[in-house]
Amino acid sequence: MRVKSKGTVYLVGAGPGDAGLLTLRGAELLRLADVVIYDLLVNPVLLRLARDGAEIISRGKRTNFSQEQINALMIEKARAGKNVVRLKGGDPYIFGRGGEEAEALAVAKINFEVVPGVSSIVAAPNYAGIPLTHRDFCSSFTVFTGHSDPAEAATALRYEQIAKIPGTKIVLMGTENLGDWTKSLITNGMSPETPIAIVESGTLGRQKSVSGTIATIAKLAADKKISPPALTILGDVVKLREKLNWFEQKPLFGQRIVVTRRSEQAGSFAQRLAELGADVLVVPTIKLMMPMEKDAIIDCLLELNSYDWFVFTSANGVTSFFDLFFKRFQDLRDLGGARIAAVGPATAAKLRELHLQVDLQPEEFIGRKIAGEFVKFQNIENVKMCLLRAEVANKDLPDALQEMGAIVDDIAIYKTVAETEDRAGAGSRLLAEGADWVTFTSSSTVEHFHARFDLPKLLKQFPQLKIASIGPETSKTIRALNLEPALEAKEHTTDGLIAGLLRAAKK
Ligand code: SAH
Repeated sequence: MRVKSKGTVYLVGAGPGDAGLLTLRGAELLRLADVVIYDLLVNPVLLRLARDGAEIISRGKRTNFSQEQINALMIEKARAGKNVVRLKGGDPYIFGRGGEEAEALAVAKINFEVVPGVSSIVAAPNYAGIPLTHRDFCSSFTVFTGHSDPAEAATALRYEQIAKIPGTKIVLMGTENLGDWTKSLITNGMSPETPIAIVESGTLGRQKSVSGTIATIAKLAADKKISPPALTILGDVVKLREKLNWFEQKPLFGQRIVVTRRSEQAGSFAQRLAELGADVLVVPTIKLMMPMEKDAIIDCLLELNSYDWFVFTSANGVTSFFDLFFKRFQDLRDLGGARIAAVGPATAAKLRELHLQVDLQPEEFIGRKIAGEFVKFQNIENVKMCLLRAEVANKDLPDALQEMGAIVDDIAIYKTVAETEDRAGAGSRLLAEGADWVTFTSSSTVEHFHARFDLPKLLKQFPQLKIASIGPETSKTIRALNLEPALEAKEHTTDGLIAGLLRAAKK
């Protein structure tokens, strides 16, 4: 392990926003931390890297804690023998007072390390299509804050000098005084035609940017309601934006999309949406638990060899079954020689992940049709089937199989319960800011989402919000709330949903 003795504080740069821009070292330390103290600029999605049981504390200047209190907290936790990750936006040593925090630790004789981060200085311009240097335009860049105190001799900015330095300029914390400092630069001789761009929440799906000249930018930024955190880039490199704006040209850029599936499953769906440029809010509404009735599961595990078929109707069923199976058995061969059926492509994919071949894969979710597929495969008279499903599952399938002569054990292998945790703050962001799409991947996500957020009320509050459904069963549950999905996936998978969202975005 590359972690020092207990009681070390790691000042870790969290990167500019996009969770993928955290360093490997930062991720490793987050996983091992006992305590994580994070700033408001940090993407809260990163907190999911922390282990269960880690103490997660939100501290930034805007949460009304003084720098002294934050320093005292780090020192107190370290002295109590904890490994502390102090997670700071961008790079810890660029503005944001990381240097002062390290000094406080040094004075208190606390072990510390500082892990650099990808600063917004380089990342936000990049994601807005602007390279900071380019041989055709400049050979230097200068970074300053738009928020310096003119009364502080050591740090006051001299606009008469800045206006004359050649090269690109990057201004942090410059939104509030944008009109003032751009005017100062013009008064001090900078051409009013100087190209400028301002980037809010750079590298995140909700990134906003606008460009103009230093004479026009204050009005443009006000019209577009640009607010902190934002950074400004001045210089001829801004002209490259039209050619190089790879991020904002992604097909789902500008769309805020809510993912409601449980957190273990949300990852890859959310990631594919983010890859396409969407601002993804992962608001898991369900989690899997053991069902109340455990005896049936125990009996089933004791008699695995007696079955002719295992029938899975959801990926959740596969996950829950094998979690229990491997608690009891070391060897996959203990599963016996039964055939395996999987209803739906996602269920089959989950089985294939375990290197299990699927013998029968009915595509329809309707009980009678599934039973019909079995009969096409073999005579199911006296064939013993084990259905591994959710606690409250529709009786159509076992009934139809039984009518056709099969002997059916319908085992509740999991139940879905409401997820209420909101560690990443996505639920509160949804309530505060709304979204463009809310995606549902099962009836239970609809029901639990509705129980938590009151779907009709949310749609009334945010008229641009639309519903995307994975397929007819899920749509049925949506219609039961007197609502209509704006989109139903043609192929009933998350890929199908994404294809639908892409089609809608093109329109
Ligand atoms: N240590 C940070 C900077 C902290 S000062 C870093 O290295 O990035 C806070 C200022 O950084 C904000 O006011 C804004 O000017 C800038 N900033 C931070 N994150 C940003 C982002 N995602 N997009 C645009 N500007 C950002």
